[in-house]
Amino acid sequence: MAIRQIRINDDPILKKTSRKVEVFDERLDILLDDMKDTLYKAEGCGLAAVQVGVLKRVVLVDVGDGLLELINPEIIEATGEQYEVEGCLSLPGKSGITKRPMCVKVKAQNREGRWCQYKGEGLKARAFCHEIDHLDGHLYTERLAPEEAINQIKLENDID
Ligand code: ZN
Repeated sequence: MAIRQIRINDDPILKKTSRKVEVFDERLDILLDDMKDTLYKAEGCGLAAVQVGVLKRVVLVDVGDGLLELINPEIIEATGEQYEVEGCLSLPGKSGITKRPMCVKVKAQNREGRWCQYKGEGLKARAFCHEIDHLDGHLYTERLAPEEAINQIKLENDID
């Protein structure tokens, strides 16, 4: 187990598309274990392999209810919408309000290669979308909500 270096800011790898995992071997186990150590050290709620410089479709999500290891994940259903503040371990010190679905259903393989389904709502839905975006070279800064939506949220919060 080891902490890996998180790629940040303008590192060109963050824009690259990750490849499907075909082989479920010991190397994958090591990657997943290292990613877990790296995620917890950085105190994030998700990490994609590309963020530690590995172009494989592997992500971790932990929003406080346990660690999920998602290999070759795909969003198979998305409903509703939410506007919330989002940040990224690869863009330290920054955050922005993004538009994301409120609920998503994801299918992914586990480290043994077996397909499983997961549901996420609220923060977990955001984490799934954010991490899966990383696999296609997308950062949350491409999903920022338009100004009008942000002003509307501020207005609603003021009333409450
Ligand atoms: Zn990120």
